[in-house]
Amino acid sequence: MSDRVCFPCTLCCAFFGVPELAKPAGMPCPHRVEAGCGIHSDRPQSCRNFECFWLMDDSFPEDLRPDLCGVVVSFNEDHDSVVIHVDPDRPDALSGEAGTQWIEALMTTFDPVFVVCGDDRMMIRRSPLDPSGQA
Ligand code: SF4
Ligand code: SF4
Repeated sequence: MSDRVCFPCTLCCAFFGVPELAKPAGMPCPHRVEAGCGIHSDRPQSCRNFECFWLMDDSFPEDLRPDLCGVVVSFNEDHDSVVIHVDPDRPDALSGEAGTQWIEALMTTFDPVFVVCGDDRMMIRRSPLDPSGQA
């Protein structure tokens, strides 16, 4: 459980489609303002439904907040795998310290982990030599 709020992050708003607004995935939302959502208290249900890992779990450090680190981590639509969405404007976001923190944290529980950046897709697996024997 977490008491976190999104503000001022809106990174996922451009990544995902919002049917109620007829906003396609990959397009900026017209309600996004300089810091946050301009209609936060009246935002559509699909916006309310989406929670990234950083928002859901306050054990992830503050510097992994998506707008700060450039990646949004979430379950896929079926909630059976984990996806790291990399900001296409910051395609190197996963190669820095924050990316390393995310991958190390996620790989302790999930295998594989999927990575999406614009039209690019990648899958990360644990090393077959993982000494934990969880490969
Ligand atoms: S990426 Fe996470 S913290 Fe940022 S707006 Fe979306 S749900 Fe909120
Ligand atoms: S309505 Fe608000 S929360 Fe929903 S996508 Fe637009 S800016 Fe983000």
